[in-house]
Amino acid sequence: MIPSSAIDLRELRLDDARALVGHDPANRLSELESSPTQLLQSILDGLCELSLKDPLTGLANRRHFHTVLSREIDVAARSGEPALLLMLDIDHFKKVNDTYGHHAGDLVLQAIAKCLASCVRPMDTVARYGGEEFAVILPSCLASFGKIVAERIREAVKALAVPVSPVQSIEVTVSVGGSFAPIWIRSTPALWVERADALLYRAKAEGRNRACIDVQQEISVSAEEKNMLFGHLAAGDPAWIESIGSDASRSTPTGTTTRMN
Ligand code: GH3
Ligand code: MG
Ligand code: MG
Repeated sequence: MIPSSAIDLRELRLDDARALVGHDPANRLSELESSPTQLLQSILDGLCELSLKDPLTGLANRRHFHTVLSREIDVAARSGEPALLLMLDIDHFKKVNDTYGHHAGDLVLQAIAKCLASCVRPMDTVARYGGEEFAVILPSCLASFGKIVAERIREAVKALAVPVSPVQSIEVTVSVGGSFAPIWIRSTPALWVERADALLYRAKAEGRNRACIDVQQEISVSAEEKNMLFGHLAAGDPAWIESIGSDASRSTPTGTTTRMN
């Protein structure tokens, strides 16, 4: 641990960081003298916040999205709770820029970001994934709700009229692809995104302004995982373990249909 006396804030070059987090440069000396720890803490908090957010929309940025996605895939694998990833892409967005200008396009992106955030629970994460693409991570989302949530979001965006000038409003639609995290087995965030992306592609190919959601994946459990999951229930009875091994489809303790390989 560094002794507090080892750091003298007056020797740190903090001006750029303070400008980034919007501190008033005129207050430098008084803040340093009155509460150097609080000052440093507020700079660090501000920088953390900036590094997680997309500046145009205020949503989680792609870095933050990946952190949350990795965490949720772990939770889903350990708990068996289904989690849904939605990937959304604005339809024909280039036309918006070409017709009304880039600034109008930015206003549409901001309005959609707000709309998405208002459609989901506080525990969900809405991110700007790239240019005109968004992603939503919904932990603890039952398979039967996947399509309902996606449709609710699609309809909410469709109903938006975004004012881009005193006399002009723009309406856009989104295509949505959705995929559930594989439960009980380990997968990778990249594979999860790939599956949701493939479904988004399908939604585009099928005509746009629609949602394609996968049915929850069939689950395959390796012999080792099977033993770890259920072995203790049989208290070491080899016949029982053998019996679940030969059963191709069986209910897990949470009621999910499981295919045992
Ligand atoms: P599709 O329905 O196939 O998705 O068509 P599209 O026109 O939406 O897709 P395309 O990839 O051709 O165009 C995406 C456009 O999004 C082009 C790019 O200029 C615009 N874009 C990306 N980021 C921003 C941004 O931050 N602001 C604005 N205004 N436009 C952006
Ligand atoms: Mg796109
Ligand atoms: Mg698009």
